[in-house]
Amino acid sequence: MNKAKRNAVIAGNWKMNKTASEARELIDGLLPLVKDADCTVIIGVPFTDIHVAVEMTKGSNVHVAAQNCHFEASGAFTGEVSAPMLKEEGVEYVILGHSERRQYYGETSDTLVAKMALALENGLSPIYCVGEMLSEREAGNHFNVIKAQLEEVLFGLSAEQMAKVVIAYEPVWAIGTGVTATSEQAQEVHAFIRKTLAAKFGELANDITILYGGSCKPSNAKELFACPDIDGGLIGGASLKADDFIAIAQSY
Ligand code: PEP
Repeated sequence: MNKAKRNAVIAGNWKMNKTASEARELIDGLLPLVKDADCTVIIGVPFTDIHVAVEMTKGSNVHVAAQNCHFEASGAFTGEVSAPMLKEEGVEYVILGHSERRQYYGETSDTLVAKMALALENGLSPIYCVGEMLSEREAGNHFNVIKAQLEEVLFGLSAEQMAKVVIAYEPVWAIGTGVTATSEQAQEVHAFIRKTLAAKFGELANDITILYGGSCKPSNAKELFACPDIDGGLIGGASLKADDFIAIAQSY
């Protein structure tokens, strides 16, 4: 299947930004602007904004993602939120394996396998993030790192489950730094991800949406999205401003 037939996605990752009232204001600004977007538009909001985001986006072309979920469905896990809780709130996607969670909260492949299973069981589509640190790229080890992140977390899935997963390639050195991967660097890794998935899932790999993330902005989005294996973006900082986020969505 060629790029034109894959589902293009522009997803915002608000991280720990926007109170519920600020979220309301941002979504108000987004809704009229994204209604003609040529791709699936997702906003990844903090847990406290989910209710507002789901209510405000009902009947629109904007979908809501959470930024994490727990690896158990319920239990004695103070301060955590589970996949069934998200589902009942009307969330459709969940970001899993973001590098900030791997880095600051000890997210491992083992916990991600469990989170992935629960998300899928509860009808959530995971947006699974992979990507290398600067030292790993400088050592020429980035392909091995990414291959391990894919194999350890995704290779136990059935084809039917895999079809529901969106992948985001986010080089850690590009996240929030203003340094974007060149379109050649990004395309090279995206093609590698697709090839790695094809070794396990065959033809299905051609249908999987693979996003680029890392200092994507209106000025570089078009060039990145024109690459044959880049199917959209996971957008951090630039998703906090309606105009920038829309300009990126319109770059697809
Ligand atoms: C992210 O954190 O997923 C991200 C892509 O951030 P930024 O766009 O700010 O680099």
